[in-house]
Amino acid sequence: NSNEEYLKFVIVGHVDHGKSTLIGRLLYDTDSLPEEKVEEIRLVCEMLGKDMEFGYVMDHLEEERDQGITIDTAQVWFNTDKRNYVIIDAPGHVEFVKNMITGASQAEAAILIVDADEGVKEQTKRHAYILSMLGLEQVIVVINKMDLVDFSEERFIEVKKELIHFLENIGIEPSYVLPISASKGDNVAKRSEEMNWYKGMTVLQALDTFEVTPSANESPMRFVVQDVYNFTKRIIVGRVESGIIHKGDNIIVLPSGEETVVASIEEFLAEPTEAETGRATGITTRDKLFFDRGNVVCMQSAPDQLPVVTDTIKARIFWMDKTPFTSGDSIYFRCATQEVTCSVEINSVMNSSTLEPVIFNEGEQAVIKNREVAEVTIKTTKPIAVDNFNEIQTLGRFVLGYDDTCAGGIITEL
Ligand code: GDP
Repeated sequence: NSNEEYLKFVIVGHVDHGKSTLIGRLLYDTDSLPEEKVEEIRLVCEMLGKDMEFGYVMDHLEEERDQGITIDTAQVWFNTDKRNYVIIDAPGHVEFVKNMITGASQAEAAILIVDADEGVKEQTKRHAYILSMLGLEQVIVVINKMDLVDFSEERFIEVKKELIHFLENIGIEPSYVLPISASKGDNVAKRSEEMNWYKGMTVLQALDTFEVTPSANESPMRFVVQDVYNFTKRIIVGRVESGIIHKGDNIIVLPSGEETVVASIEEFLAEPTEAETGRATGITTRDKLFFDRGNVVCMQSAPDQLPVVTDTIKARIFWMDKTPFTSGDSIYFRCATQEVTCSVEINSVMNSSTLEPVIFNEGEQAVIKNREVAEVTIKTTKPIAVDNFNEIQTLGRFVLGYDDTCAGGIITEL
């Protein structure tokens, strides 16, 4: 295709339900693997006396990355006639949940995979919960390994029912539910000859119906400051998290609220007139205001679209550290480049896979354990400039931690 557009998606699901195999299959069926690679994998499988195992594709890509060669497994590419795709996050990656929750991998769509034989498991539910927490709406459910259940429509309906029931509870309405066999290729790129009872789309057809998220260029401008350099002129370096910043813009710096004008946009050997969302860039200003890492630069012209400067927020957090968290513990809060210490009051706690509330008896200290979700009130030691997650994701999400990240969260109320 000649389309420049690409859609980023993740594949999530319980361990061994077939994530790697589906990735391998997608790459193979769209001719996205180098010929030598395919041959190499075929030989390995033959040696082991196995059918071609698509899971090996991922293992091999992983290996290449370890050797520092070409392929970054964090981003695997393929394309259809319609557009290009990027699969984010190699499955089995230890940091997988962390990347999702902290926004390191910003997917626009997801495939939730379930083993037809094993049915819905704990991680199926947990990963689905994370998709719902992050507001992902373009979701395809694939019931995989249909070959193991004799391509039975009855079994498909059974698993589908169980999963849909859970997804309803967390507010996810999948766009499609497909019976597939990732290892045999049924209903991935080609229609299955074994499941004539299924009249719907293949995985690729379903993906092609999704929309690429409109560019954050249209959103209110947020430029977050990383650093300030004093050369012959003083350059404020940062990243445009949303919107577009232009030379000549009347800007306001938060949390101080001081105002000035963008005198220039500075890039290596260039002075562009604007910088779009996602761009790491530098600016100079007309007045010599005080700038510091963590400051957020916005437009004066849209006073109702500014972030809120506050020291108290309500949020939902996903705890992902082995050491539980207790109310009152002091911990760091990081949102874009803003980093402050904060205290966290626990309002309620829930199991992220059963969705059951965790009950604390009277007098018992509330704690959040690994993989639990909590509604909390956060008080920061200094004012921060933040947005509601529903409005501007990059300034509406944050992480909590000590040396390492322990939780990811989204701001639900300001
Ligand atoms: P992951 O942990 O979710 O990445 O799962 P893998 O892709 O590694 O698959 C786990 C196992 O299931 C491997 O042995 C695969 O060969 C097998 N598998 C994956 N998809 C299918 C399928 O459609 N049919 C059958 N029979 N086995 C499959």
